[in-house]
Amino acid sequence: MSDENKKVQAGRVVSMDYTLHVNGEKIDSSEGREPLEYLHGAGNIIPGLERELAGMEVGESKEVIVSPADGYGESDPDAYIEVPRNEFPANIPLELGLELQVQDPNGNAMYARIDEITDEVVRLDFNHPLAGKELHFRVKIVGLREPTEEELDHGHVHSDGEHEH
Ligand code: ZN
Repeated sequence: MSDENKKVQAGRVVSMDYTLHVNGEKIDSSEGREPLEYLHGAGNIIPGLERELAGMEVGESKEVIVSPADGYGESDPDAYIEVPRNEFPANIPLELGLELQVQDPNGNAMYARIDEITDEVVRLDFNHPLAGKELHFRVKIVGLREPTEEELDHGHVHSDGEHEH
């Protein structure tokens, strides 16, 4: 490989260790797990992180701060739905922060969190849990490889033969 090929760039499979902090709290990390693998330039990871990783070399570490707009988006004030409490399914516990899977009118799965509970209504938040949040990543590039033809074709990594579609 030439020196240029040793850098993170479009069309390479990148392995990285990472830790994600939000508001000073660690919310995700590859510690104790396999590094995260992704296909660079294919939109597999959030744009604000992918852009900052370009040009990094194996062994290099970096802190990356991603604004909401470059991460999971701003919190959408229209993404809340209030359900009258007496229409709320009795088998779902009324707990703040509880994650629910609901179906839209087309039968697609959507995820929501119980955001507020009053005597009259239960308010559901359909925003991504990290919407509106500034993301603090600590990343270390631990490997680079060529994708297989199939990976390139699909635009994502197939790790250990597992193939989720
Ligand atoms: Zn695939």
